[in-house]
Amino acid sequence: MSHEDCIFCKIIDGEIPSAKVYEDEHVYAFLDISQVTKGHTLVIPKTHTKNIYETSPEIASELFGRVPIIANAIKEVYKPIGMNLLNNNEKPADQSVFHLHIHLIPRYGEGDGYS
Ligand code: 5GP
Ligand code: ZN
Repeated sequence: MSHEDCIFCKIIDGEIPSAKVYEDEHVYAFLDISQVTKGHTLVIPKTHTKNIYETSPEIASELFGRVPIIANAIKEVYKPIGMNLLNNNEKPADQSVFHLHIHLIPRYGEGDGYS
């Protein structure tokens, strides 16, 4: 189900261009437009869901189930020495796009710009 005014649904539909990292039946992954560190990636379910509170266990399972594959793909390409996973829910917790997403933030050691 795609959501009319959702930029991430538009990215899935190809209406807004994105740098694809991974795609399958359930999940789409693409580079975040503001690269907190090199290779900063967002992983989203193809079914629109606002955030973790409104996500069924099935969709959560499909989404999180793909994260190891995507994390390893990023690790192979960008050669980070670590990686943070982050998920923001609701405005007070810094959610700015209301389509569930997981940030994969590769880490390169001191001075990589993320803390
Ligand atoms: P949030 O703050 O909701 O956890 O994260 C939303 C993320 O989406 C931000 O890091 C922001 O840079 C990214 N973002 C917003 N609009 C676009 C876009 O049009 N394309 C891409 N690739 N990323 C976007
Ligand atoms: Zn959406």
